[in-house]
Amino acid sequence: MNKSLYIHIPYCHSICSYCDFIKVFYNSSSASLYLKRIEEELKESKELYKTIYIGGGSPSSLSYEQLNSLLTLTSKYLDKDYEFTIEVNPEDMDEGKIKLLKLYGVNRVSIGVQTFNDRLLNILNRKHCKEDVFDLIASLRFNGIENISIDLMYGLPGQGMKDLKNDLNIIRKLHLPHISTYALLIEDHTCFKVKGVEALGDDEQAKMYDYIYKYLTKYGYNRYEVSNYALKGKESKHNLTYWEGREYKGVGASSSGYENNVRYTNTKSLTDYLNGKNEREEEYIDDKDGKIEYIILHLRLENGFSLDEYQNIFKTDFLEEYKDEIKELLDRDMIEINKRIYVKKEKMFILNQVLCYFIK
Ligand code: SF4
Repeated sequence: MNKSLYIHIPYCHSICSYCDFIKVFYNSSSASLYLKRIEEELKESKELYKTIYIGGGSPSSLSYEQLNSLLTLTSKYLDKDYEFTIEVNPEDMDEGKIKLLKLYGVNRVSIGVQTFNDRLLNILNRKHCKEDVFDLIASLRFNGIENISIDLMYGLPGQGMKDLKNDLNIIRKLHLPHISTYALLIEDHTCFKVKGVEALGDDEQAKMYDYIYKYLTKYGYNRYEVSNYALKGKESKHNLTYWEGREYKGVGASSSGYENNVRYTNTKSLTDYLNGKNEREEEYIDDKDGKIEYIILHLRLENGFSLDEYQNIFKTDFLEEYKDEIKELLDRDMIEINKRIYVKKEKMFILNQVLCYFIK
């Protein structure tokens, strides 16, 4: 079994204006207890993992000693030829922490950049500036960690096309192997929502999405998933586990996993988790749900899925099963079919409209 492992670290030193993830302000004693609970939860696992992803929150908010404990613990679960990713925020990192990453075999770092525009970073309540990102990338590379991904947000309040172009020019010059893009959504219970801040409108966001696609593909990036770009061979193996519907284990408060046909989410209550109580929400994925998940997840990918593979897994002919939906999608020029089915490149921004046809 080549499963993947996700570990959630819910602590952050500050709260970003748009954030609706499950996170709390960093507290040293709480974080130390949390790491003990992670260790207990992981002890149930006898497996090694091809990919491990430590996300958050912000794992880099942990102290040097705590990060050392976390990496000591998790690196024991690495299989051969692994991908070991950690999410970091630039302002949390220093040379000592970077050396720890290298020491324990972390070979992929995902940096919460969002934008290289200091004015916009301020609006997002991010605590770094663009020079912090440049320094961090240089330091990671100096220490032999070349596989770097960044998060890039667009559709920000007050962001113009010129700002976006500037971000993309910087990214190109940095030769980063992987970029995850996110349109800003103003979710309930976020600082933006409370303050009545609005993201750019749909048309402007669509223009930006399109511009990002054209720019990055021109410079050699492949949009392998609706919002993710990579240079050849630098796709996120861990995230492909999710999109290809394969199994993964989730550890930590609010972590989700998928094992033995069960999708589960650990308790969302940090207090419960710290007290050793982990009441999971679980959902058994039967054949019908499995098919829908397979379709929805795979159509996020630029190359969709193979019709033969679908037939092998579900013992039915996809084109026959969904013939009405497919006819309509072809009439609307939304999909292409050869031996595979996939969403047309220029229709990826409205992927959800395609997915609606398969959600019954
Ligand atoms: S660092 Fe990430 S998890 Fe923490 S507040 Fe910002 S967006 Fe949310």
